Order: sequence, then C-alpha cells, then structure tokens
Amino acid sequence: MQNKSIAELAADLRLRKYSSTELTRHYLDRIARLDPRLNSFITVDAEAALAAAARADEALARDEGRPLTGIPIAHKDIFCTKGVRTSCASRMLDDFVAPYDATVVERLAAAGAVMLGKTNMDEFAMGSSNETSYYGPVANPWDTSRVPGGSSGGSAAAVAARLCAAATGTDTGGSIRQPAALCGITGIKPTYGRCSRWGMIAFASSLDQAGVMARSAADAAFLLDEMAGFDERDSTSAEVPVPDYVDALDNDISGLRIGLPKEFFGEGLDPRVGAAIEAAIREYEKLGAEIREISLPNSPLSVPVYYVVAPAECSSNLARFDGVRYGHRCADPADLEDLYTRSRAEGFGAEVQRRVMIGTYVLSAGYYDAYYLKAQKIRQLIADDFKRAFEEVDVIMGPTTPSTAFALGDKMDDPVAMYLNDIYTIATNLAGLPGMSIPVEPVEGMPVGLQLIGNYFDEARLLNIAHRYQHLTHWHQAAPAGFE
Ligand code: GLN
Repeated sequence: MQNKSIAELAADLRLRKYSSTELTRHYLDRIARLDPRLNSFITVDAEAALAAAARADEALARDEGRPLTGIPIAHKDIFCTKGVRTSCASRMLDDFVAPYDATVVERLAAAGAVMLGKTNMDEFAMGSSNETSYYGPVANPWDTSRVPGGSSGGSAAAVAARLCAAATGTDTGGSIRQPAALCGITGIKPTYGRCSRWGMIAFASSLDQAGVMARSAADAAFLLDEMAGFDERDSTSAEVPVPDYVDALDNDISGLRIGLPKEFFGEGLDPRVGAAIEAAIREYEKLGAEIREISLPNSPLSVPVYYVVAPAECSSNLARFDGVRYGHRCADPADLEDLYTRSRAEGFGAEVQRRVMIGTYVLSAGYYDAYYLKAQKIRQLIADDFKRAFEEVDVIMGPTTPSTAFALGDKMDDPVAMYLNDIYTIATNLAGLPGMSIPVEPVEGMPVGLQLIGNYFDEARLLNIAHRYQHLTHWHQAAPAGFE
C-alpha cells in the first residue's frame, strides 16, 4: 500500500479495496516499527488519526469524499494543531498545545486528509540538517549515518521511508527543497503568499512559506490544490486565483525555455552532482525544451544577505517567547529580568540563540545601516536578477544542493559550512519565487535533487514540468532499502 501514489490510494479507497481506517493503521504500524531508526516524528496521535479515518470512511461510504479523503499525511511540527502538541522542535514549546489549527492544517483536514502526527524539524526551522531539534536528530533513510537535510528533515525522511503518503513543510531559505533533495523526494515551495502563514510559527516572516513534500509532483499537486489560496487571517497572503494543479500536470512542455544560471554550476558543486543534473537537463531536451545559459550575478550574495535578514526577523518574532505568556518558564525567577533571560536561555538551543544575537545586532541603531539596510538593498538586486532572467526563459534549473547528504555531526561545529548548504535555494526565498526539488539519478546510492525555479505564481507550470520528467523516469519511485 505504501508504495502507491495518492491517486492510486484515492481510487482504491473509492473502490473499497481497503478502508481509510485500514490504511491509517498500516501507516501507524509502519511508524511504530520503522521510525525508531529515523526519529522523523515528534508526536504521533493514533487516536485522533483513527477518528479522522473513521470520519473519512463515513464520507466515502456516502460517496462524498474529495481526492484526499482518507489519505494519511503528516504535518511539520511548526504548524499549530488544535489539541495536539506543537513544539517547533524546541524545549521552549515542549508542552505547548495550540488552541487552533493553522489554516493549512484546517484546509487539509477539511479536504478529508488524515493527520498521523507531527514531524521532527530543526528548532524553529533554523538549520539544514535537522540536528538542532530538541528531540534529537533525524536520520536519512537512504543511509542512517547521514542527515536528512533540514529544517523539514522529519517530513522528508517520513515521506521517503513511506511512513505517510505526503507531508507539509516550510521553506524560509531552502527547508523544503534541500531535505527533499537529500531524501530523494519531491518538494515544492510555492510563491511567497500562495499558502497562508496563519498558525505557522513564524521564523522570518518575509521569507517563510508553507509547501508540500511528497513522492511525486502529482502527489504534491493534490495537496497544493487544497492548501493554496487567499486567507484573510494572513495579511501577506495573496489574493490571486488558484488554478487546478492536478489538471495542469500533463500539459505539453515542448518549446519550454530552460535557463541554467552559470552561478549554480561553478566552484563548490560536487562534480558528480553536477553530472546528474546535466543528465536530467538532457531528458528535458528530449521533451522538446530549449536550454539557455543565463546569469544571476547577485545570487552569490544570497547567503550573506539571508543571514542578516532572517536573523533580524527571527529576533523580533522570537521576542514573544518571554516565559510569561506561553512556553517554557524558568523555576523560581528572582525578578522580571531573571524570568526573561533564564526562560529564554533554558528554552532556546544554541543555534536559535546565535540567530537572535545576530538579529538584534544587525538591527541595533549603530549597525542598522551597515548590515540590515544594505542587505535589504542587495535583496532587491537579487530579485531584479530573476526578473530579467524570466524575460528570457520560462523556468530556471540547477542543483538543489551542492552535495548529497553529509554525515550526522559533520557540520555542527561550523555554522558557515552548514549555511552554505542552501547556496542554491536561498535566492528564491529572498525574491519570493516558487521553487521545487525533484529526485534525479543518485550518486553512489544517495539521492540528488534537481531544482526548478518558476516565475511568481507559476506553481502549476513547475508541477507540470516536474511531472513530465517523472513520467519519463523512475527516480522518484526508488525506495530506500530496509524500510519495506
Ligand atoms: N537552512 C536555512 C536556515 O538555517 C533555511 C531554513 C529554512 O528554510 N527554514 O535558516
């Protein structure tokens, strides 16, 4: 069952080959049996999942369901879920139970999807390896001595190991695409504002975007169809009509103009990853696409710009965790100052504290112009590069990451080396554009991701372009050994 696509599962449920309750039990059993090796879930709520499955079965019996009715999924533990703990993988929120569902959670539940539980992640989504989680690291199912990527590492590992049919993720600088690439799955970060951020715990509000992690573009389209769209509760959510993503999957792509940014193929890229990406591009040529070299001259500045903007926003967003209203509170505070400082020192891990300190520094009166303002200016130049590129091409392609998954523990002592993992993904967030990662030919058994970057609100085309490749190839169907 676990190897079937969402379309196949939905068809089986309709034909009563098995019920959603049976399907949900199957996934819960897999989680119980296999997740101890991965640690991809922080919370599993079997009772709530089986109750949702029973409701789905009733809807199916009345021939009512939608495409996702009865399909078991998981949510990154950054999305608030009413009655189920939302920890953001932080000690700060270890016992936090939200009084409401995030819009994305609400919409997928209304569509009939069954939530199995909440997936592990880097603390407050800060990281590229899932090693900053308060609940311990997640292992990559393709090689459990390696990282799954981050920050949505739990969702990526769970989808790759077939512990759920699909999962949600969030992407502030690469957190959907990078773990999707390292775990051999398909991930899409939509345009900024496409999916509501309401109820999604904020890291860097001008960059954060919810999206989907699934095994294929077609599976992702089913979820995005339900998640996307305007939400009046999120002032940055876009009032732009949502096309039917599933409908667009099979569109012809002959004549497609693909741009390859020369900055994405230079120094720092593992040549074996580069070769796998080039082989994938050749498949697109067979499909009638036209390849052009382009330049995104300011993109090499995206990592330094991001590490000013994102910490600045995070220092402001995380100011709400003060030990007073909710979250961790230290024992026996001597006074108010002690309450704040000790609660935060105990509640936040090292990486989160580093970001808060960098953020308050770059926003401080004496350094604002030198760092924050300058970063904002370069951010605009980075967005302008893309604008020019999209006058010439329909989609931009390149590697998602410079290398395949690295070993657990490898980069934890060197934050800059860790940050450089997102060298190809961050510019997209700074510009607010949609991006995707799809699995291509692996390197020595480890997955490699091809990144697709589209113009604003061009998700339907990205999914279509990805689907055409997946129609032709089988890399997205490969399953990690030992997780049968
Ligand atoms: N790895 C990046 C960071 O550490 C991006 C994280 C994300 O997209 N949430 O900030």
